[in-house]
Amino acid sequence: MTNHATPSHAIIIGAGIVGLYTAFYLHRAGWRVQVMDRGEAGMGCSAGNAGALSSASVAPLGMPGIVRQAPRMLLDPSGPLSVPPYYWLAAAPWLLRFIQASRPDHVAAISQALKQLLEPAIDSHQQAMHHLGHEGLIQITGQLHVYPDEKAASKDSAGWALRRQHGAQVEKLNHQEICSLEPQIGPHYQFGYFMPDQGMVVNPLRQAQTIAAALAAGGVEFLRDEALTLKVDGQRVTGVESRQGIYHADHVVVCAGAWSSKLLACLGYKIPLETQRGYHLTLPDSGIALSRPVVAADRKIFVTPMEAGLRLAGTVEFGGLSRGPTPRRLEPLLRYGKLLLPELNTSAQAQSWMGHRPCLPDSLPVLGPAKKFGGLWLNFGHGHLGLTMSAISGQLLSQAIRGQAPMIDLAPYAAERFQA
Ligand SMILES: Cc1cc2nc3c(=O)[nH]c(=O)nc-3n(C[C@H](O)[C@H](O)[C@H](O)COP(=O)(O)OP(=O)(O)OC[C@H]3O[C@@H](n4cnc5c(N)ncnc54)[C@H](O)[C@@H]3O)c2cc1C
Repeated sequence: MTNHATPSHAIIIGAGIVGLYTAFYLHRAGWRVQVMDRGEAGMGCSAGNAGALSSASVAPLGMPGIVRQAPRMLLDPSGPLSVPPYYWLAAAPWLLRFIQASRPDHVAAISQALKQLLEPAIDSHQQAMHHLGHEGLIQITGQLHVYPDEKAASKDSAGWALRRQHGAQVEKLNHQEICSLEPQIGPHYQFGYFMPDQGMVVNPLRQAQTIAAALAAGGVEFLRDEALTLKVDGQRVTGVESRQGIYHADHVVVCAGAWSSKLLACLGYKIPLETQRGYHLTLPDSGIALSRPVVAADRKIFVTPMEAGLRLAGTVEFGGLSRGPTPRRLEPLLRYGKLLLPELNTSAQAQSWMGHRPCLPDSLPVLGPAKKFGGLWLNFGHGHLGLTMSAISGQLLSQAIRGQAPMIDLAPYAAERFQA
């Protein structure tokens, strides 16, 4: 039996932003921490996201009415959602659960659980970055969502009502007010919502690498290796079997993003984790100067001014973990980016990227102990909000692993919610 009063030893599988923050908080508490990743730290989905810290995003992806909206999105080849025919069968069970989760009674509970994690999320990032001396990575810029007109915005009215109901500060803007915040937004966008207390990370990859470098300097061991299976002794997980050997630890933490459910399958867990493949284009020479993330909300495209240039990010593409990117999914980013920002220099050299959002059908992560096995902890499935929720999730899980009562009840995020 581990004595939780004294620091002990954990292996974290996955050096994305979620695993790195989990390592950060455990290491800060004096624990011996090893972080295993088959690649370089921060180079998974965490490398290329839109950088938005969206602490007011309490509306799950599956809202009532999504069943009516989805077919139109699917039929539009340049729409924000794509389920290619080769993946229809594979996606069906996940989509069914997604539809179930969009029932109004479920949405109310999910939204409350999202709020609990999101409310302290930006503070948690700021405190950690302050501790590391890199507070400049986080900026409170506000976030601007724009629509062609108020009628277009009314499709999302339930989501905006939920945000307000949960206390978010939301200001309604006309075109002139939009342009006073961001003068380069074009005339197609006549209506908007501004949320002044939202934030952004100016370079998500640099943030992950900064945390990893500080951890390595502080004695955390980074293992460049692939976890193959978890070692079990009775009802306790005792370590990790990897390509290169066996590692023993008092605690094993699965933070392997979209690959997490594969690792847990060996223990009998059937977790409906699906990758929603997302894309970005970063234009170093865009001709655009934004002061904050701007969302073309009718097209679900985020445009963020980052250290490396202007990043246009979006798209939800089902298609699994093994296929390469679909280059045509990048084209709408440029086309609708130009509609949003007519002065956008689309002939400039752009860097393209695809990443795997780890998504669960109820838009909540799996966060907490694996109830069937001692010594096993789970922190994955943060979907579209993984950057935002990474610091608070790492902080909460570290409290639970150390035997403290977490600041927030972790019950709504239990893996076992999918076993019923
Ligand atoms: C286009 C796009 C835009 C986004 N924009 C935002 C945004 O603006 N705001 C926001 O909050 N979120 C955003 N997200 C979501 C966010 O990026 C993800 O939720 C988050 O990065 C997930 O982090 P992670 O650490 O769980 O996963 P990852 O970063 O993918 O890390 C998982 C790590 O586990 C490793 N791994 C997996 N299996 C194994 C194994 N068996 N052995 C060893 N290592 C393993 C992988 O190599 C990887 O490094 C966006 C995502 C996309 C795709």
